[in-house]
Formats: sequence, structure tokens, C-alpha cells
Amino acid sequence: MDFKNVFNSIKKTFLWFVFTNHCKYCNALIGENEEMCEDCGKNLPCITGEKCEFCGASKERCGCKKHKMNFDGITAPFYYEKGIKECLKLFKFNGKTHFAHILAEEMSACIQKDFANVKFDFVCYVPFSNVQKIERDYNQSELLAERISTILEIPLKNALVKLFDVKTQHDMPIQQRKGNIYGVYDVRNGVSLKGKTVLLVDDIMTTGETLNNCALIMKIRGAEKVYCATSAVTVKKKK
Ligand SMILES: [Zn+2]
Ligand SMILES: [Zn+2]
Repeated sequence: MDFKNVFNSIKKTFLWFVFTNHCKYCNALIGENEEMCEDCGKNLPCITGEKCEFCGASKERCGCKKHKMNFDGITAPFYYEKGIKECLKLFKFNGKTHFAHILAEEMSACIQKDFANVKFDFVCYVPFSNVQKIERDYNQSELLAERISTILEIPLKNALVKLFDVKTQHDMPIQQRKGNIYGVYDVRNGVSLKGKTVLLVDDIMTTGETLNNCALIMKIRGAEKVYCATSAVTVKKKK
């Protein structure tokens, strides 16, 4: 008999009777004063230590070689790894919109810490195309931006438009992705960016090309600074 398994099931049964508090990531029952369960605590890929401003990874894990982007900084609470992958899948595709609250809180803490001296004029998000708006019930990046706007008391602006869709980034070789999305995004008619400092929100930064192109068009249209926040970043491998 596996003693550990028996112990764990007794513990779970005990928790069912005594507590009604749930892990904010996986919904498992936990003790009254806890925020998350033991498994999630061990598996959350938090970004700790000093961050690289170009890729959001810690300086130890940064493999971007300080490749200059069109944005002025990026911050994220998590690496796109382990438990966060599952959370983001549920959040994006399975209607689990409560993750917007959890992730936006973590993101807001990062924004306050890493962009402490920046005064934002407004927060905006990576938009959906008209086709995506029909296909999907909600834009996860918009939900994150809405929450961050409330938490940090920065006005929310629907500043960008996505003019057309391109082949999904994830299944393309890295070389082909570059330049593939130039011209996909533009600034919405009537939105003035002149001299503005903008916080741009997306759910994940993978290659960085989406945020890079959004930042570029905002700067062409007059934005002074564009800072980005995502819930997770993919780390480029060190070469
Ligand atoms: Zn959990
Ligand atoms: Zn880096």
C-alpha cells in the first residue's frame, strides 16, 4: 500500500469537510489562509529576479541577446511553461474567463514594480480581426486589459484594429514569422497617440512579433513610448 496516496486522500477528504477555499489556479480545495494548492505552488513558472527589458525573462534565462524591439519594455509574471500553459488554454478557448482576474492581478503587480516610474496615458490590447470576433466569444487580451485598467486606474482605450488574419504564428518556422504580420495592425481612426505613453496588453509573448508590430504602428502614429505586459512569455533558447 502506498502510504503517501492514502495520506493524500485522507487529507483531501478532510479539506472537503473543513474548508471551502479553492486554489485560484486549479480549483482544488485548500486551507483557509492559502492562495493556491501545493502542486500549483511548486509548478507555477514564476519569473523571478531582475528581468530583461527586451524579452521579459530573468537575466539568467534571457536568450534574446538584447534584440531591440519597437516597444520600450516588457513585463510578465510567468514563463509560458508547466501549469500556466494549461491555465492559458482554459482561459483562451474554454470559457474560463475568471482567469482574467487572477492573471491581471499578477500582471498589475509586475507593471507596478517594473514600470514604477512610468506614467501611462492609457492601456490598450492586441485586438481581434472581424473574422476572429465572429469565431470567438471574447478576446482574452481585452479582458486582461479591462481588469488591469480597473486595478491600476489607467483609462482603457480600444486603440488598435486588426485589418486581416495571417497564418497562425505557432505552426510556422521562426524565419517565416518575421515580417509576416507587418501591416496587420493599425491604429483605430480617431485615436490620437501624439506624445502618449501607452501600456499594451496581450496574453502571451511568443516571438514578440505581434507586440513589436503593434508598437511600431503606434510609434509611427505618434506614440512617445509603448510598454508591454503579458501574462506569460516564451523564453528564447540560449545559443
Ligand atoms: Zn492548484
Ligand atoms: Zn532578453
